[in-house]
Amino acid sequence: TRGLMNGKRGLIMGLANKKSIAWGIAKSLADAGAELALTYQGDALKKRVEPLGEELGAFVAGHCDVTDTQSIDDVFKALEEKWGKIDFLVHAVAFSDKNELTGRFVDTTADNFARTMDISCYSLTAVTQRAEKLMTDGGSILTMTYYGAEKVMPHYNVMGVAKAALETSVKYLAMDLGPQNIRVNAISAGPIKTLAASGIGDFRYILKWNEYNSPLRRSVTIEEVGDSALFLLSDLGRGVTGEIQHVDCGYNIVGMKAVDAPDI
Ligand code: NAD
Repeated sequence: TRGLMNGKRGLIMGLANKKSIAWGIAKSLADAGAELALTYQGDALKKRVEPLGEELGAFVAGHCDVTDTQSIDDVFKALEEKWGKIDFLVHAVAFSDKNELTGRFVDTTADNFARTMDISCYSLTAVTQRAEKLMTDGGSILTMTYYGAEKVMPHYNVMGVAKAALETSVKYLAMDLGPQNIRVNAISAGPIKTLAASGIGDFRYILKWNEYNSPLRRSVTIEEVGDSALFLLSDLGRGVTGEIQHVDCGYNIVGMKAVDAPDI
């Protein structure tokens, strides 16, 4: 992949630490020659993200909380001043109250429903609005989703509803921006142990279930998600938009428990 992203510049949102899916994507892009900008959410993550930015030779564009419109505008202003235009955007951001990532969906509160939708779904449209203005030579936008958007998964609850809306947002955004050669896609990753995933009830069980029952009989890694992201964000993916690409060791095709799966 060396040189594949030479001359391309873009923003990655959602890096928290080296377990983040955003880290896997950042590494694949940097190895392929992309110039990266990063944001962090709040002071606690600033301390973690700044050294990661240094390791990647990335521009740390500042704090961005997607519930704070001003902070989104500030980041895109910083990018405009630094580069004038961008070629790609990675949105790897999601949040829901941990207390509602367990038990029943029917018990979701109105407050958490709205917050989950705002942070995990609407924010893609919010950042796409700003990115569109900087993607003057076309571009590629990528978000992260999960199979819980398509099928009921234990404890995923309101996040599944938000991911379903996110996947549909990808399709509408792809149609709107296609004429400007801006592509919009999502990767539907299999379960990976990250900070965000640790908020989901019985996550270890879900991970094991996927390992035993996916066609590849293992779980996917952030490096593998990173390489698929590289395809979609580079010119290799130039004919692909509005797509929900599963990168899940094939789990989504499976109809029932594998006959060789041990008990968990
Ligand atoms: P992570 O905890 O490393 O990353 C989540 C990121 O979201 C963090 O950087 C956090 O700062 C950011 N974030 C949360 N609220 C925010 C806000 N208000 N403003 C700005 N940023 C905010 O976890 P991850 O698993 O790498 O998550 C990245 C994406 O991948 C998420 O969209 C997640 O739903 C998705 N995903 C994860 C898995 C999995 O199993 N880990 C599977 C499929 C999809």
